[in-house]
Amino acid sequence: MTIPTVTLNNGVAMPQVGFGVFQVPNDETEAAVTAALEAGYRSIDTAAVYRNEVGVGRALAKSGIARDELFITTKLWNSDHEQPVEAYEKSLERLSLDHVDLYLIHWPTPERDLYVGAWQGLEKLYADGRARAIGVSNFLPDHLARIVALGGTVPAVNQVEVHPALQQRAVLEADARLGIATEAWSPLAQGAVLADPVVTTIATRVDRTPAQVILRWHVQQGRVVIPKSVTPSRIAENLDLFGFDLTGDDLAAIDGLERDGRVGPNPAEFNGA
Ligand code: NDP
Repeated sequence: MTIPTVTLNNGVAMPQVGFGVFQVPNDETEAAVTAALEAGYRSIDTAAVYRNEVGVGRALAKSGIARDELFITTKLWNSDHEQPVEAYEKSLERLSLDHVDLYLIHWPTPERDLYVGAWQGLEKLYADGRARAIGVSNFLPDHLARIVALGGTVPAVNQVEVHPALQQRAVLEADARLGIATEAWSPLAQGAVLADPVVTTIATRVDRTPAQVILRWHVQQGRVVIPKSVTPSRIAENLDLFGFDLTGDDLAAIDGLERDGRVGPNPAEFNGA
């Protein structure tokens, strides 16, 4: 199966669908990532704080898939904003890789106000050719503005919570204006929108599952998605998004599901260690 890619602002191609492993225990991660690779995923999204980089690395090594066919993302945790290079090296060690394709600042943690320095650390990693692309996660427009104002590297990606119940229009607009690709985390709202009649009605008509309809709503608008599942049939289903189209009316009907449906922390307030 060929997975479409989006071209990042530095020319690197990123698969439009990846596999997320948040909340997958390390000892279950190898099996989940193996199932994802077997289903055809080539992009895996982990983070130092998920404590499962070792499991991801084991599955990658065991797969025998060539490194240049894989797209691996990991993230700098909040308590490491003052030592990004050292934290990166530790992540690589756990992953048993010599580079990742995308390294992200996980949260801006605005109260600590250390993300500008952290970004300069990521810029150094990138300038030294140690990561193929660098970006941010959970950055709101004012956080993006501060790092873009440095005049250095513009983030390639902003990975943020986006789904029908939280559409983040201001963030999407800022990303688009700055040439930053938007990657949707919790793209299925952790399941919260799957039983909505708007979604199930469309799913019945196009003969797809509700999850496929929601993921298609994202990819048809150019976003990268990283659905998580530990269920093999869902892992496969979530990648099978490219044989059908939603109409403009379908997209608008799903847009109409916007509500205060945040499933994760608010980046303006989250300063978790
Ligand atoms: P998702 O929106 O991907 O939802 C995952 C949930 O939906 C699981 O309970 C899963 O169940 C269920 N599910 C998955 N596929 C289907 C399907 N086809 N039909 C029905 N139910 C389904 O939420 P996540 O919060 O896991 O987000 C995805 C990824 O985003 C994470 O793994 C992580 O990589 C990233 N993320 C990043 C964050 C950040 O701060 N940067 C924060 C949170 C997430 P089951 O597993 O039992 O099959």
